Amino acid sequence: MSVEGRDSVPDDGGLGVDTKVTRAGRNPAAQSGAVNAPVYRASTIIFDRVDDLERAKAARFTDGTVFYGRMGTPDVFAFASAIAELEGGDAAIAVPSGLAACMLPLVAFLKTGDHVLVTDSVYEPVRTNLSDYLAGLGIETTYYDPTIGAGIETLIRDNTRLVYTESPGSLTFDVQDIPAIAAAAHRRGALVVADNTWASPVFHNPLALGADIVVHAGTKYLVGHSDAMLGVVVCRAEHSDRLRRAANWLGYRAPPDDVYLAARGLRTLAVRMRRHYESGLAIARWLAARPEVRRVLHPGLADHPGHALWQRDFSGASGLFSIVLETHTKEKAIAFVEALRLFGLGFSWGGYESLALISDPHHARTATAWNEEGIVVRLHVGLEDPDDLVRDLEAALGLLGDGR
Ligand SMILES: *Cc1c(COP(=O)(O)O)cnc(C)c1O
Repeated sequence: MSVEGRDSVPDDGGLGVDTKVTRAGRNPAAQSGAVNAPVYRASTIIFDRVDDLERAKAARFTDGTVFYGRMGTPDVFAFASAIAELEGGDAAIAVPSGLAACMLPLVAFLKTGDHVLVTDSVYEPVRTNLSDYLAGLGIETTYYDPTIGAGIETLIRDNTRLVYTESPGSLTFDVQDIPAIAAAAHRRGALVVADNTWASPVFHNPLALGADIVVHAGTKYLVGHSDAMLGVVVCRAEHSDRLRRAANWLGYRAPPDDVYLAARGLRTLAVRMRRHYESGLAIARWLAARPEVRRVLHPGLADHPGHALWQRDFSGASGLFSIVLETHTKEKAIAFVEALRLFGLGFSWGGYESLALISDPHHARTATAWNEEGIVVRLHVGLEDPDDLVRDLEAALGLLGDGR
């Protein structure tokens, strides 16, 4: 069918990411020319002959083998391969949530007696898993200052198996020096995991900087419409078998309808990310000049401590950043966020809508202290008209006055 030839544009590395997101993982010729991969709702896969069944069973942890619903169907494999391509990885595994993606490499590679280094800015539920479950299995965690860079060398022990990074952290936005951390980790035989949810594959590719495994909360920007939950783990070929087996034996299975929504969201990811970037940075700059705002934690601002690293390693920023208000009166901060009309109050982010959340970095840290006075409000700048968002923020900030 001619569709096949026309869809398989050779990519010699020259295609831009905006083009890649529209083409990765597609195969219209295999589906009567329909543009998007159909949803497979399958548990049982039936075979003609016992021999076929046994061959599929033997190959069931190989990408693309359809053997049983839990291990994936063509739609799920197509989506995962698209993310692998965008991240510059060899393989990717779709899992049921972002948190499932964060945990998969930890469970797959750590065993009793191992030590793991985790950024103090890590997505908080990962911390809960480490203390409430993995510690009980004899896996020891040390949290490190996210700005440690090459200094991580001094924390690496003979039994350190993994270094877990998240850059920037999704509350305080400290940028990590992934190349320096990866070089130190690799010298001592440790693997590096990077949570790349914030930047998405459009603006940052940690594998190219030395990370071994990238995890994504697809729930956020990949889905992009706040209506599905999904995770993706991307890796080099040598780690895919172990990760794939662990995902299966843990019982992880990415729901195909949610995979469909993520695959659909992916086609507009680049254009959405650019809008989040532009509006977010413009609003961050506007907020930085306001008397009610003490500090803006956005790595795209020149006075952010991670700005130089961000410029070196990222090609853009998402719509998520925090502000530190002048006030340390919680009631005033509540009045501010509740006065916002265009910012929803709620968890998660990455959808089209702007969000605001009062957060408390004091509670989320153990290796480093959070000494900032003033209440932290995390903002997600969505796809609305940025002038409307500024007017909304201006009116709500007006309630704060300039006192504390
Ligand atoms: C939201 C989030 C996760 C978890 O994703 P879920 O799909 O909600 O489980 C992991 N890492 C980061 C950085 C996140 O923001």
